[in-house]
Amino acid sequence: MKLLLAEDELSLSKALVHILEKNHYTVDAVYNGQDALDYLETGSYDALILDLMLPYVDGITLLKKIRANGNYIPVLILSAKSEVDDKVLGLDSGANDYLTKPFATKELLARIRTITRSMQSPDSKLSFGNITLDRATYELSSGMDSFRLANKEYQMMELLMTNPKQLVSTELFFEKIWGYDSDAELNVVWVYISYLRKKLNALHANIQIKATRNAGYSLEEML
Ligand code: CA
Repeated sequence: MKLLLAEDELSLSKALVHILEKNHYTVDAVYNGQDALDYLETGSYDALILDLMLPYVDGITLLKKIRANGNYIPVLILSAKSEVDDKVLGLDSGANDYLTKPFATKELLARIRTITRSMQSPDSKLSFGNITLDRATYELSSGMDSFRLANKEYQMMELLMTNPKQLVSTELFFEKIWGYDSDAELNVVWVYISYLRKKLNALHANIQIKATRNAGYSLEEML
């Protein structure tokens, strides 16, 4: 799952990126409102974490603008403004939730899960063939054995298992999991696909990741 973080306080931004990546999110960080608007136009984000006092375009203006443009991305406001009126203004401007600084990491993660929940299946486990991916423990398992997947492997498998039998393009994997700011090259997608294939083999999976030349990958049942 890919998040956009708009926070101009550099140390807080860094700490948040670290926490979120450790919890299996991909994060792009921007430090002002204008960059946030630009990134939202080009990136496919699953949620926006938004500070209110931002340079160039403040959080409330940004929020009203994207909602007026019909962008309904889930938004969590993170702000030092703790008055009831500030929260009401934020929520009325289109935010899905509002968390005041300072906050506990656990609560931040719970609120991100809540605002993004409608985009996921209600079940925390995804299944296809004899393979299950547990979204809470990041475990990929068959009846016989299991692996705990690392961040990028987990995100790739999640993307495949939420769209079984559908072609997921190499570009989409790259954009969602590595992000625009990444120094990685596109062929890193193939490298991770090969890691996942090895794990599926070891699990005696009856499903496989099929490659379609110059297009992408899909999860298919083995015949
Ligand atoms: Ca700020």
